[in-house]
Amino acid sequence: MVQSIDIQLTTKKKEKPPAKNLQFGVHFTDHMFMLDYHVDKGWHTPRIMPYQPITLDPAAKVFHYGQTIFEGLKAYKTEDGRVLLFRPDKNIERLNRSNERLSIPHLDGELVLAALQQLVAVDQDWIPSEPGTSLYIRPYVIATQPCLGVAPSTEYKFMIIMSPVGAYYAEGVKPVKIFVESEYVRAVRGGVGEAKTAGNYAAGLKAQEEAKEQGYSQVLWLDGVHLKYIEEVGSMNVFFKINGTVVTPALNGSILDGITRNSVLHLLRAWNIPVEERTISIDEIVEAAKNGQLEEAFGTGTAAVISPIGELNYHGEKLIIHEGQTGELSTKLYDTVTGIQNGVLADPFGWMVDTTAASTASK
Ligand SMILES: *Cc1c(COP(=O)(O)O)cnc(C)c1O
Repeated sequence: MVQSIDIQLTTKKKEKPPAKNLQFGVHFTDHMFMLDYHVDKGWHTPRIMPYQPITLDPAAKVFHYGQTIFEGLKAYKTEDGRVLLFRPDKNIERLNRSNERLSIPHLDGELVLAALQQLVAVDQDWIPSEPGTSLYIRPYVIATQPCLGVAPSTEYKFMIIMSPVGAYYAEGVKPVKIFVESEYVRAVRGGVGEAKTAGNYAAGLKAQEEAKEQGYSQVLWLDGVHLKYIEEVGSMNVFFKINGTVVTPALNGSILDGITRNSVLHLLRAWNIPVEERTISIDEIVEAAKNGQLEEAFGTGTAAVISPIGELNYHGEKLIIHEGQTGELSTKLYDTVTGIQNGVLADPFGWMVDTTAASTASK
């Protein structure tokens, strides 16, 4: 039996931001979910409550040692008013893999799914329905025990907050310029690159900042040992189309196992497009670009879905991909994934979880 979730509704609803030009992660809905953990009690007291600041002891472990993990997924409102989640089971599995790596206690997957569905239901009026918009959902765990000893916390909070987001590309899908990073690294095998944990992102900011100064929107991360093999692009997984074959780095322990990556692999295989998950060196990409065989490159992730790469800068050498324009495969993948998510296209893999019933029940 899943623990039942106590619901305390707000008495003061916030004004919703206009659906036009919504920025990413700036506005938050009226409610949040919270669940507490104490080593003597386990996870307890699941509740939905008005969105509000929380009070933590200044010694809470999350502030000092970064024992924290997060997830990111979206809810969509279809034209006919259905409310859909995209593959939430995958996010819940990954949440617990991240927990495991960060020595955070396992969360009951059924309770997390119920929490997601009920919170989305309570704040369903916040799901924008204009094309390309959605409700971004951020589940996360923080270590709250007030203690400076370096050991796993004995207390945690699991929370879910939600934010309405606009179309990632206001003027259609646009290719980005990427700087190949050969000084800083994101993650190493045996480290925490596979986990969605705060430290990975803090560690990546410096490279991102320096790339920005040179006019690049993100970096292409190379492996932490040889600075030779491609890992990810910014905080997205990366794909290349070389001479008709699509290649992406194999999951090797330092790469985040993206759900968009997994979905793209499913689609490519269903379309009988040759695809390989393997080691890819930056030299191979440079050579393919010079030979005219690098047909497309793109990143994948929940926020942008598909983000085409129009230029790679490696040691000052600029490789222009697909004349700096969005390629046919990138467009087809973007249209297909977003079409399934918005309920416009059929859902052949059973990815979408319809939570309209939970939403209707809470009305
Ligand atoms: C979240 C994330 C991704 C993409 O994962 P999705 O499940 O597709 O959103 C890729 N790389 C990193 C580093 C990430 O944090």
